[in-house]
Amino acid sequence: MALTALITGSTSGIGLGIAKAFAALGHQIVFNGLEPDGAEIAQKVASEAGVQHFFSPANMLDPVAIRALAKQAIDTFGSVDILVNNAGIQYVAALENFPEEKWDAIIAINLTAAFHLTKAVWPTMKAKKYGRVINIASAHGLVASEYKSAYVAAKHGLVGFTKTIALEGADFGITANTICPGYVHTPIIDKQIPEQMKAHNMTAEEVVQKVLLDKQAIKSFNTIESIAQSAVFLVSDAASTITGIALPVDGGWTAQ
Ligand code: NAD
Repeated sequence: MALTALITGSTSGIGLGIAKAFAALGHQIVFNGLEPDGAEIAQKVASEAGVQHFFSPANMLDPVAIRALAKQAIDTFGSVDILVNNAGIQYVAALENFPEEKWDAIIAINLTAAFHLTKAVWPTMKAKKYGRVINIASAHGLVASEYKSAYVAAKHGLVGFTKTIALEGADFGITANTICPGYVHTPIIDKQIPEQMKAHNMTAEEVVQKVLLDKQAIKSFNTIESIAQSAVFLVSDAASTITGIALPVDGGWTAQ
């Protein structure tokens, strides 16, 4: 059965990997992201898989734009069956230097946008008695690291939000789960390495080995495919009673 999957932040990194995996299953894809070439990226994935799609550059900082994105998806495809709240940003600084505007943006994009978008598609999921919500949190939704106060707060909040909607969706065929990745080599990591170098007074290589991968028992990056295939599993019939979980894909980080 072809479903409609709306994935925020799906023109880069993990979101793009999830979009490719769902397109390969024949699902219609609503792409979103701020990449300047987002429309072309979306077109390429959809045409290679032979699925319908549209791309929206809706900014997850803007609740009006978020609600418009949900409406456009429902008007175009009739429903949103799979919602992946994936868009996210990071900023690394010690608390006393942490800029207020970075705190606000991280909470808005990584947490509050998931509330607005899930709320906007929820009535159609309830009416259809089917929905799969997957929120991309992080190992930082389960444990903390220094210098990431806003991100850790947002991701812990996202895990809690997801548990709540799992309870509210249970009678309506809706499941809601988080995936909690360890480190995956995507642009968000490339952007944070210089900030980590400054915060820890280290070289780039030292940051990768001593700050990032040091957290994990398995000292290699997790792959985009491992996250994407976890999302595919959570949407499968086999996972129909899995709800409210926070699934670590983190190289053993949170086992410690
Ligand atoms: P990425 O930078 O490659 O992708 C982030 C996506 O979010 C991009 O498409 C970007 O355009 C979009 N985005 C950012 N701000 C936006 C906004 N205001 N409005 C709309 N879209 C916006 O990074 P990624 O690693 O693929 O990150 C995806 C998710 O995975 C994030 O939520 C991130 O916190 C989470 N995550 C990543 C890692 C990792 O190691 N890469 C680990 C754990 C969790």
